[in-house]
Amino acid sequence: MQGKILKKFAETVLSVGVNLQEDQGLEIICPVEKSEVAVALAKAAYEMKAKIVNVRWECENIDKLNFLNASVKTLTDIPKWFVESKNYLVEKGFCYVAISAENPSAFKDVPPYKLAESAKARGKALKKFFGQVMANGIRWCVVSVPTAEWAKQVFPNAEDPESKLCTEIVKAMRLNARDPVNEWEQHITKLESRAKFLNDNDFAALHFVSGTGTDFTVGLCDGHKWLSAQEKAKDGLSFVANMPTEEVFTAPHRLKADGVVKSAMPLCYSGQIIDGFTLVFKKGKIVDFSVEKGYEVLKNLINTDKGTRRLGEVALIGKNSPIAKSGILFYNTLFDENASCHIALGKGYPTTIENGENLTRKELAARGLNDSVEHVDFMIGTKDLIVEGIKKDGTLVPIFKDGDWII
Ligand code: ZN
Ligand code: ZN
Repeated sequence: MQGKILKKFAETVLSVGVNLQEDQGLEIICPVEKSEVAVALAKAAYEMKAKIVNVRWECENIDKLNFLNASVKTLTDIPKWFVESKNYLVEKGFCYVAISAENPSAFKDVPPYKLAESAKARGKALKKFFGQVMANGIRWCVVSVPTAEWAKQVFPNAEDPESKLCTEIVKAMRLNARDPVNEWEQHITKLESRAKFLNDNDFAALHFVSGTGTDFTVGLCDGHKWLSAQEKAKDGLSFVANMPTEEVFTAPHRLKADGVVKSAMPLCYSGQIIDGFTLVFKKGKIVDFSVEKGYEVLKNLINTDKGTRRLGEVALIGKNSPIAKSGILFYNTLFDENASCHIALGKGYPTTIENGENLTRKELAARGLNDSVEHVDFMIGTKDLIVEGIKKDGTLVPIFKDGDWII
């Protein structure tokens, strides 16, 4: 990504994504090989009169060396300064842009238990920060730019995988439009009308059925709220946490999920791939699972803590979303989750409950919201998926037929 498109990217992410304000600090989390993206974001930020721009560089090659060579004891010792640097962002009213461009199999040679232990330690250490992130105590946005290693896995046979991936990202982010910000406003309005329909119906549960074997009923939290692209932060300003985004999502009840769920796409988690898995739920909890690829990774993920056996999100996306229509498997959840209905293991978003930002953890749990140090989306939407809403009086309302919205 370069030149005019990179400039458009930076401006769209800062104005639609984090809604950067004058005299506000910006933190950028960026892969070290993509420094030009951080520079473009910083330039655009100062044009918008930002206070300061800080960058945290990420390098998968160093991470991999650390995972392979350092002991678990060392890997799970999360420095205090790192935790403080995260909490600082919330205290000082920063917003942040995280660039997700992982090589999907970066850590394929790392023993899964090392990845699991260090993810768990990180989650625990950053619990306060993630709590703020998920309660919209900070405005944030996750976006992607193409990297060579990632692109090679998406388009292994292409002559120039990186430029091909770039074209797809630009399309999904609507950057080809003359005025991407305006495009985004229209897109946001459309998603909001779907969220309104779901909120007006105030469903007690949703029922998913597909030819792959998914037959699954999930209850929703008491006082749940459907959200879409644009949310309001605690400071009252709107932001879009994921770009692209095609989803309308809410809070499943942690004690109310029953039936069988089949994954519809591979899931890339912790630099490893989990594929072809089936989860069996009883009263909200995973009681059995099977998997074709990535058994250890999935087992460790499910056993991270009590909350990773339960659900924290249910999201609806039609098969005709632009990303779904592209038919490309991105091996990156930011894109793949926007091609398919998905559910998440782990922590639920307090914001998906009416007034949830102001409720205590106990109060949220009483409404049914799940808690965990993790939140991992996985895709369940197939081309033949049927979704119906079950109202409190038992009435059924069709929402999805043949994998797409019918409302
Ligand atoms: Zn989601
Ligand atoms: Zn999610």
